Amino acid sequence: MKILLVFDFDNTIIDDNSDTWIVQCAPDKKLPIELQESYQKGFWTEFMGRVFKYLGDEGVQEDEMRRAMTSMPFSPGMVELFNYIRKNKETFDCIIISDSNSVFIEWILEAANFHDMFDKVFTNPAAFNSHGYLTVENYHAHSCKRCPKNLCKNVVLEDFVDKQLQEGVNYTRIVYIGDGGNDVCPVTFLKKDDVAMPRKGYTLQKTLSRMSQNLEPMESSIVIWSSGVEIISYLQFLIKE
Ligand SMILES: [Mg+2]
Ligand SMILES: [Zn+2]
Repeated sequence: MKILLVFDFDNTIIDDNSDTWIVQCAPDKKLPIELQESYQKGFWTEFMGRVFKYLGDEGVQEDEMRRAMTSMPFSPGMVELFNYIRKNKETFDCIIISDSNSVFIEWILEAANFHDMFDKVFTNPAAFNSHGYLTVENYHAHSCKRCPKNLCKNVVLEDFVDKQLQEGVNYTRIVYIGDGGNDVCPVTFLKKDDVAMPRKGYTLQKTLSRMSQNLEPMESSIVIWSSGVEIISYLQFLIKE
């Protein structure tokens, strides 16, 4: 029997947002106003597609983007947490569900040598085209009203858990570690034995505390973290139970 650890990426594994960090590669480290203002709510992937097109037009090369991305800091205690998980990999399956993209996540995890620790990464597929431009597509289409058009993390998580069950892998509990608004949907569907771990002071934690003040029902327990080291302590406690 295993525990499933579900990680968000931006502001959870890494201590910033990869999509805004890449803007460092732009001339003067900023985007033209009309590009900045072209974002429409719910259409983030399309917006990032335009950002990558702009960087390509400005002659920003793959190397430079990779260098910028691999200089992103991990969140406090995250490296310690990953080392702990690696030592206890027979107890934990690990997945990432992220609204970033496959290229950024691969670069960052590979540079830090953590790519083999994750059983699966679900994110918007990206690739460099023949002109050297980075392109990105929506992860999927879904009908969840609460989530951005390109990704409902709850649909992804439920599909993954179902597929694993068909393979004979049944998780004793799910521990969901995240920070953002798009982590609210999957977290509210967690069950009684599951654990939602929102990052202290970020949107997910604020939303969950507002929901509990409004007495909106939630089955899972909630454990707030500021450092991966606190997550280690909590996992150690879960294993001993
Ligand atoms: Mg996030
Ligand atoms: Zn959703």
